Amino acid sequence: MQVSDQVAIEINGLNKWYGEFHVLKDINLTVYGGERIVVCGPSGSGKSTLIRCINRLEEHQRGSIVVDGVELTNDVRKVDEIRREVGMVFQHFNLFPHLTILENCTLAPIWVRKMPKAEAEAQAMRYLERVKIPEQAHKYPGQLSGGQQQRVAIARALCMNPKIMLFDEPTSALDPEMIKEVLDVMVDLAEEGMTMICVTHEMGFARKVANRVIFMDGGQIVEQNEPEEFFTNPKSDRTKLFLSQIL
Ligand code: ADP
Ligand code: MG
Repeated sequence: MQVSDQVAIEINGLNKWYGEFHVLKDINLTVYGGERIVVCGPSGSGKSTLIRCINRLEEHQRGSIVVDGVELTNDVRKVDEIRREVGMVFQHFNLFPHLTILENCTLAPIWVRKMPKAEAEAQAMRYLERVKIPEQAHKYPGQLSGGQQQRVAIARALCMNPKIMLFDEPTSALDPEMIKEVLDVMVDLAEEGMTMICVTHEMGFARKVANRVIFMDGGQIVEQNEPEEFFTNPKSDRTKLFLSQIL
């Protein structure tokens, strides 16, 4: 798994408030192409907010975020450009319940990428094969298990051919027996060289695929390191406390 010297995401002096509440404090982060970053930290530490800022699901008030060379501002065209390059997978799948699996996977390619329908469907089937559920293509999300729905959500994101994938606790709403099937898909993606930022507490996954683990607490990046060092030799007391609670 190679990391390139091309910058994929550059975050400088990022600060965000929800009203009076200072949720992200002076975040600086450079992500290079091909990096697999795991973000962990206590509930409420700002992990979701950080990755939602990266594709402008949330606005920031201070500092800069540059994704694939494009700075995130209020310019709607730039936001659209970023959303095409950055795929996102959420904890609760967020599939469209009234559309079939295939339609979930072809909607954005047809309407946003202007891809011909037949081509979008052929591509969707290729990605559904990659996440090992092509046989579910004509069912509706409600007919699938949680693990299957999350694999569809990953396939749907991949159908936009993103350069970067963001995952926000993709396995934390799943029954234990379904976690592995989703992590396996994410491991495959990492091995193919996808640049990814994953908020997850699956530390086995972090050890296996991450080149960097970032620990957040209180809206700050408290510590970051390569996984082996992060887990065996954490530096800050907050990291030690957190690891003692989850490992
Ligand atoms: P994490 O993903 O690490 O659990 P979040 O980024 O979801 O943390 O939330 C960080 C903090 O911001 C929490 O205290 C949360 O209650 C607060 N928060 C999150 N979203 C909003 C919002 N839309 N409005 C106000 N406060 C929010
Ligand atoms: Mg969260």
